[in-house]
Parts: sequence; C-alpha cells; structure tokens
Amino acid sequence: MKNEFRESIGRAVGNATLTGALGKFSEAYKINRARAYEGIDFEALRGVIAERKSHAASNMEQVADTFAKNAEALGAKVFRTNDPGKVREYILKVARDNDVKSVVKSKSMATEEIHLNDFLEKAGISVGETDLGEWIIQLAGQRPSHMVMPAIHMTKEEVAELFSKEVDERLENDIPRLVKVARHELRSKFLKADMGISGANIAVAETGSIVLVTNEGNARLVTTLPRIHVALVGMEKLVEKFEDVVPILTALPRSATAQLLTSYVSIISGPTPNTDGSLKDLHIILMDSRRTEMANDPKFKQALQCIRCGSCLNVCPIFRLVGGHVFGSIYTGGIGTILTAWFEELQNAEDIQGLCIQCGNCKEICPGKLDIPEMIMEIRRRLVMEKGQPLAQKAIFGIVNNRKLFHGMLRAASVAGTPFRSDGFIRHLPMFLSDLTDGRSLPAIALEPFRDRFRRIKQPKCTEKAIFFAGCLIDFAYPEMGEALVRILNKAGIQVVFPEDQTCCGAPARYSGAYEVAAKNAEDNIRALLREEADYVVSACPTCTVALAHEFSDTLESLGRNEWLTKAKKLAAKTVDFSSLVKRLVDKGRLTLKEGQKLGAITYHDSCHLKRTLRAADQPRELLNKAGYQVKEMLECDMCCGMGGSYSLKLPEISAPILRRKLQNIKETGAPVVAMDCPGCVMQIRGGFDQDTADVKVKHTAELLAELVEEGR
Ligand code: SF4
Ligand code: SF4
Repeated sequence: MKNEFRESIGRAVGNATLTGALGKFSEAYKINRARAYEGIDFEALRGVIAERKSHAASNMEQVADTFAKNAEALGAKVFRTNDPGKVREYILKVARDNDVKSVVKSKSMATEEIHLNDFLEKAGISVGETDLGEWIIQLAGQRPSHMVMPAIHMTKEEVAELFSKEVDERLENDIPRLVKVARHELRSKFLKADMGISGANIAVAETGSIVLVTNEGNARLVTTLPRIHVALVGMEKLVEKFEDVVPILTALPRSATAQLLTSYVSIISGPTPNTDGSLKDLHIILMDSRRTEMANDPKFKQALQCIRCGSCLNVCPIFRLVGGHVFGSIYTGGIGTILTAWFEELQNAEDIQGLCIQCGNCKEICPGKLDIPEMIMEIRRRLVMEKGQPLAQKAIFGIVNNRKLFHGMLRAASVAGTPFRSDGFIRHLPMFLSDLTDGRSLPAIALEPFRDRFRRIKQPKCTEKAIFFAGCLIDFAYPEMGEALVRILNKAGIQVVFPEDQTCCGAPARYSGAYEVAAKNAEDNIRALLREEADYVVSACPTCTVALAHEFSDTLESLGRNEWLTKAKKLAAKTVDFSSLVKRLVDKGRLTLKEGQKLGAITYHDSCHLKRTLRAADQPRELLNKAGYQVKEMLECDMCCGMGGSYSLKLPEISAPILRRKLQNIKETGAPVVAMDCPGCVMQIRGGFDQDTADVKVKHTAELLAELVEEGR
C-alpha cells in the first residue's frame, strides 16, 4: 500500500465533518430505503433486473445493433466505439461542425469516465454542469465522490463559500437561498447553450429510446433547449425490451434516494422539435470501453447488471468512513474498485481493493444482484497472479502452509508474549507494533491450546459423531469456546472428534488473493476432516464455516483442481455452524434450555459471515431468548465490527473507528452482555471494551449456552 494512499485514508478518517455527515446519512438511508421498499418483494424484483440485464449483457452486440437501427429509424445519429478517445473526438467534431461555443450538461458518470469537461474546455468550448451537485464540484474543481450524490462530502458552509465567489456576493449557509442562487445562475447558461450533453439511465433496444431519471428537471432542459443533444450511453445501460424499464424504474429511485419515483422521468425516442418547428440534432453515442470484454468474462459479467443507484456506497462501512475521494478515481466504493480495474487498468485498483473488508452489506442491498465482495476477491487473485504476493505476505503464508511450523510458532508466541500478557490480554506492544493495540487489546495466546485440552476431556457414550473444526482463534486464543461446544454437543448425545492435523481454514490467504495457499489449506483440511465418518462437521467460527461450506470448492475449482471437488462438496454438505446445529437439536428435543430463568438484558452482534452467507441471524437470538435472556437489539446490529480477519491489522486506522461506533451502539442498549457467534468479533469487541471504561461482558453464544442447556427429555 503506497504511503500517499495511506495518508489520504488518514486525512479522510480524521475529517470529523466528513465522517459525521456520511455516518448520519448512512443510518437514515437504511431506514428510508426500507420504507420505500415496503410492500415490494425486493428479492423477486432484483431477480428480474439481474435476469434482464444479464440477458442484455450476454447479447450485447446484437442488442446494441437493434438499438442503433431503431434509434436511427427515429432520426437519431448513433455512433458506437470501444475507444473513449474517439468518443471525445466525435463530440468535439459535432461541436466544431455546428460552431458550438457553450455546452450544458446533465449528470453523466460516462462523461466523467472519459474526462470530457477538461477535453472540451481545452478545445475552447465552455462546459456548464447543471445538476446541482455536479455544479458544486465543478466550481470546487473536484471529482464526484458518489455516483448519485456527487457533492455529498461537502458541507453547506463550503457550498456557500463557493457560490459566494461565483456570484461575487457574501451568501449565508441557507440551503433554500443557495438553491435559488444556483437556479438563477444556471438558467442563463441553459438559454445561451448551443449543445446539451446528457447520459442515460436506460437505453431500450426495442424502441431506440433513452430513459433519463432526475430530480431537478435539469436533464429536461439540457435535452430540449439547445439545438443539439448528445447522449453518451455506456453499453451496460442497454436493455432489450421496453418492458425491462419497469423493474429498473421500480428499483432505481428507491435504492438511489429512497424515493418511490424521482420528480422527472424522461423517455426520449428520436429528436424533439426546436421552437421554430425544426428537429434537434440528436446524437447517441454507445460507449463500449471494455464493456463487451467484461460481458465475456465469467467472473465480471455480473458487473454489467449495475443500475448505478449508489446504494452499495450508502451501506458500506468503509465508504461512510473515508468518503469517495480516497478511491482516487471516477467511480468510488466497492463498485468503483471494480469499474476502476476495468475502465482504467487492474493496477489502478491495487491499493483501493484493500479497502474492502468483505462484510457483504453491498451484496445484500444491490438491486442488480452484484456480488461486489466476490469480484473484489477476484481482482485480488488477478493482482497476485500478475505481480506475485508481497514478500512479507509470502513469508507469512509460507509458515501458515506448514501446519507443524505454524502451530509450533503459535506455541512459541504464547511464551514470548508473557511479558505483555495481563488478564488474558496484550494491552501494549513495543515500537512499530504499538498501533496494533491502539483502541483494542489483543487476546493473549492461550498457555494451553484447545488441541491439548481436548485430549483430557472425557466424553460420555454417544450415538452420533461431530467433527469439530476449531479454527486458529478458538484453538490458540479462546480454547474455552471449544470446550463449551464439546459440553453442549455431548449433552445432545453427540461425540466430538477433533482431528489434530486440521489447520488454518485458508481465509486469510484467500482474502489476500493467494489462492494457491488457500487451496493447500483446503486440501489439508479436507484430508483431516473426512478421514473419519461423522454426522456433522461443526465450527463455532462463521469465517471457518464459510470456508468449509463454500470457499474450499470455489478455490479448488478456480484453480482447476477438480480431483478434489467431490470431497470438498462432501465436506460442505456436512458442515454446519454452531448456533444452527444447536437450534436444530433444541427443536428436535435432543437439548432443552433450563426454563423459567430471568437472565436479564443481552444484546447480539451479527457477524458478517454468519448473517449474510450462512443466513443464521435468528437461530442464536431464539436460543438466547429461550434460555431466559431478553434480547435488546442495538442500532446496526449487523454492521461489521471492523475486525475482518487480518484487515484490523492491515488497516487499524479504519478498523478502530468502526469498532468505536460498534462499542457505542452496544453501550446504548444498556445491556451488560453482548453475545456473538464469531471468535474474530469477540477478539475485536472484547479487546475494544478492555480499553473502554464500560463494563460490558463480551461472550461467544457457545460460552453462554454451555451453562444453560440440558439433555433432551
Ligand atoms: S453495484 Fe448494485 S448497489 Fe451498487 S450502484 Fe450498482 S446496482 Fe446500485
Ligand atoms: S463488502 Fe462491505 S466493505 Fe466491501 S464494498 Fe461491500 S459494503 Fe464495502
């Protein structure tokens, strides 16, 4: 990670105005969006959008041809190119041929993508942005920080300052007054302009129409007042049929701005008339710029399903902390990382891909059904394939890939950490490691790992068998969680088996793009976990469970190691997370929870992998409720705690403020205990509370339930 990039993160995180405003916006957005979608089956809706957009992407050439034929039949001139340079030249030629001196533009990310304003200005043509947000950033000489709300990072004070300079008058920070000033200033630009340039939200092949969705009405003026209209359309905006507009128009305003519909929806089918009755000169440019190449890439084709609503940015814990400019390119956030890798080059995404903590919030909310975290992982994989792993990482994974050496080093670290250990925590580390204990204590490595303790556990005679995959944290930092799991399963008549040659689940390597390392971890674990026949393979770490249940197969398949696939799938079919298994056992009457207890208030933190990949949000809550706790929900219970595996070590400057917010939300419930199902989240949140003054106990659900379950009756 380059120093310059790291510094820009530091500046953004240190900008309290930015983080405060984005944080508040993000909290309100989720509530308003949920309201806007009331009564709508979001899953069904996004299924339709994904299917229609995917169909258009699969047939992009043909859909583009049909669009061009139908738009030309209506009188438009259609130009299609893969080359952004040719787009700029085409627009300049149209301008020069028609003696254009000034242009007005409505918001268009495609024009931002090709830096059109600079190009036209350098050719002597004045360009005026007419979307309020775009005009603000044009005056400020900045790039948009968000694809829907380009000036979201700016305060009203900053805007008043800019407008004051523009109109040469001291203006107050009064929003209605500022809007009035903008309207007045922009009106004269509209009237003088010789050419209007717009983008398009949708382009319909069947009718040759473009659809524009706006709130300010400026796009209507841009497309109707000047005598020439140029629409720049990225080819991902193409759909085949007019009926495909309906699902997109249902989702776009709801997802973008939590509105049922925007103030203006314009459908332009052919040139519109001028005031003298003649027809406008309408040019539609279909810009490819690697979009057809993307459509042919099985891992990235889904990116063409994006409807550019920006909601993935609004829910991203990283975007709301650092804003858009840290991403350094036109498109920002997780989707911006993907588009930068394609529309610029893969190398340009090298630093920014590291910002994604893989929480999956964006995937859950995306109306185009894009799996952004998966595509970012693929970017990481391709970067490692192109450039190799960084040397330090290579050395670490070299150790992780040798189980005996890795475990031997963990045991040695337990001894070496003794001078820094106190009450099970490491609170201060020396010198360059000191950042790692800023705002969060680290767990001390256990003096006796779970694998050693397990040998002494005497288990009753059982009818079923479960293989326990502990994962590194439970094995070497929190062995008591593993012991709790054994006690609970024994009460249900399940014998626990712990294969000692199990090793790291490979998640750290996979999330760093080191798939070869992750594949070796997968093979070692498959061998260890399938050696003995068992009814279940259980883990009390959601990240490990996801690795066993999903990622082993994906990693091995992506490397063509098909000889392992049947075994990986067999393992996946048996794998279950702790709470889901216990819930099943309680439902079947094989375990009961001590009844009639009043254990008081508790709050629950959803771990990203458990909630969004394993879909197990209700199970732990139901178990805790049944056991006698009163679950009090915290604000944003399913927002990432900032742990993200090694993320908190790589980017402590981002992880720490995310953790602070989580601790605050927990404290505001007033509950004295917070439960969670992930040892990684326990490490982050317990370590955070160790340095906070509040007395909140942080527990894995297994630790709590171990005292509360009894044998079934
Ligand atoms: S990726 Fe999804 S959520 Fe993000 S802008 Fe595109 S459609 Fe919207
Ligand atoms: S997975 Fe999480 S961190 Fe990554 S882009 Fe999506 S919302 Fe942001």
